[in-house]
Amino acid sequence: MQFSDIPFNKPVTKFFDPGIICNLTKFCGDGNYTEKCSRFIENRFQVKKCLMTTSCTHALEMAAILIDIQPGDEVIMPSFTFVSTANAFVLRGAKIVFVDVRPDTMNIDEKLIESAITSKTRAIVPVHYAGVACEMDTILEIANKYCLYVIEDAAQGVMSTYKGRALGSIGHFGAFSFHETKNYHCGEGGALLINSIQFNDRAEIIREKGTNRSRFFRGQVDKYTWVDIGSSYLPSEINMAYLWGQLEAIDNINQDRLKTWKLYLDGLSTLAGKGLIELPTPPHCTEHNAHMFYIKLKDLEARTKLIEKLKEQKIQTAFHYVPLHTSPAGQEFGFFHSNDNFTTKESERLVRLPLWYGMTTHEVQFVISSILESMKTF
Ligand SMILES: *Cc1c(COP(=O)(O)O)cnc(C)c1O
Repeated sequence: MQFSDIPFNKPVTKFFDPGIICNLTKFCGDGNYTEKCSRFIENRFQVKKCLMTTSCTHALEMAAILIDIQPGDEVIMPSFTFVSTANAFVLRGAKIVFVDVRPDTMNIDEKLIESAITSKTRAIVPVHYAGVACEMDTILEIANKYCLYVIEDAAQGVMSTYKGRALGSIGHFGAFSFHETKNYHCGEGGALLINSIQFNDRAEIIREKGTNRSRFFRGQVDKYTWVDIGSSYLPSEINMAYLWGQLEAIDNINQDRLKTWKLYLDGLSTLAGKGLIELPTPPHCTEHNAHMFYIKLKDLEARTKLIEKLKEQKIQTAFHYVPLHTSPAGQEFGFFHSNDNFTTKESERLVRLPLWYGMTTHEVQFVISSILESMKTF
């Protein structure tokens, strides 16, 4: 069977009834659908408070404001991540301290964190790459020892767990993304998960342009006014109505993605057996959400060759990230602590395969057989 085109991602379009939009009576933020989405996340993931946001980027920015990051403060994170992880803190004047990743998960190497801590360190930002959990027990232990905040960048981790606990529910804060490239989406969207209740009130204010509007609507104050810094971090009801359909189908979507993930794992195991590629190895303490399936080639040259060959078959693949510490802004706003043993080397040989909700077995098998065929000459 031939396919005209295998895209890298197809954003979910099922589970949404356009009629819902016609029946909305409130289109701006914090209507019924925003409420439904936040309560769902609180209950399902055992989070004390969830505030829906316009993006994961904005959820991270809120966390940086909430912990009062000041110019000169240091924040520890991996360099192998999306720019927003760093930008959120740089906007408050922080210096970013990049720590190397573990090659098995591409997550921050928890064993290297402690030596990166100085008297200026304020927070650790573990990024759960590919929806596979960071070693959270160790990270929390270090954070407690040095009184640091932990903000989980769980953009890719919705529906994943670490030792049975939902990602995003473990640190002081967690940030989810509902961008169209993620497992559940509304085009652009996100959520801030707050696990320390002392931040709840201020978080509401920062999200509502620095006003106490939320308290006013609840009748807790008799007028609403400007009380703090803030921005407009609350999403439109239209986006939340779109997202709600997918949250209702969250298990269905998760199972479907996991099925595709396992097909890739089985189908490519012979290549791994021959030592031509490496497959992902999620640790036993984590249950992942099949956010992505990536393989690692021998080196950059082999990866470039495979991407080209798959492109000839009209199969789209993707790779990322250019390590932040090598980027112009990364050099200005941060530095790499100790040696870059794995970040650059491993990121250069990683390639992500097509994966979306509803991908057919035929489509997955076509990608697998194209890889097997392409790699005969490697
Ligand atoms: C997608 C992503 C983000 C940004 O999410 P937005 O909702 O697009 O702002 C941040 N961090 C990581 C690790 C991501 O994958």
